[in-house]
Amino acid sequence: DPRLEAISAAIRVVPNFPKKGIMFQDITTLLLDHKAFKHTIDIFVDRYKDMHISVVAGVEARGFMFGPSIALAIGAKFIPLRKPGKLPGKVISESYELEYGHDRLEMHVGAVEPRERVIIIDDLVATGGTLSAAISLMESQGAEVVECACVIGLPEVKGQHKLKGKPLYVLVEPS
Ligand code: IMP
Repeated sequence: DPRLEAISAAIRVVPNFPKKGIMFQDITTLLLDHKAFKHTIDIFVDRYKDMHISVVAGVEARGFMFGPSIALAIGAKFIPLRKPGKLPGKVISESYELEYGHDRLEMHVGAVEPRERVIIIDDLVATGGTLSAAISLMESQGAEVVECACVIGLPEVKGQHKLKGKPLYVLVEPS
C-alpha cells in the first residue's frame, strides 16, 4: 500500500526525548500533513467499517487524535480511556507496569455495554502493557475486543504476546 510510505515519512523521529537513548516517534507532524493524516484514518476505516464494530476506544492522549475520526466514519461511539482522576463519573480502573513504576487507565462505568464489539486505538505500541490494560477494562464490562490498532509498532518489543491473545494491527514500523 503506497499510502504507508507517506505515513511513515510524515512521522518525525526525535532522538533523546523525553530522555537520553529514546528515539521518540512524534505523530504531531503526521497530523500536520493532511494527506498522510487522511490516509491513516482511511486505512483504519476501510479495515473496520464492515466488522460490526460499535465502539472505538482511544488511549489518552494520542489515541484521542485518531479514534474519534474513525468512530464517526464507521458509525461507532468513541470512548476515551483516561489517565487517573480525569473522569468525573463513576470509573473502573486498571493498573499497568511501566519501565519505572506503574500507571492506570480509567473508563466510565456504563460507557460500554456487554457484548459490544470494540477496537482499541493508540498511536504506538511498545511492550503492549498499555493496550493490555485497555483490553482488561473492556473485558471487565463484558465487551468483546476485536482488535487493537496502532499507527506505529516498535518491532523489537513483542507487544502481541502481551495483548491477551487479541490481534494487533499496526500501519508502520519506525524507519
Ligand atoms: P507500551 O505500553 O510499552 O506498549 O507503550 C505504549 C505507550 O507509550 C503508548 O500510549 C504510547 O503513546 C507511548 N509511547 C511510547 N513510546 C512512544 C514514542 O516513541 N512516541 C509516542 N508514544 C510513545
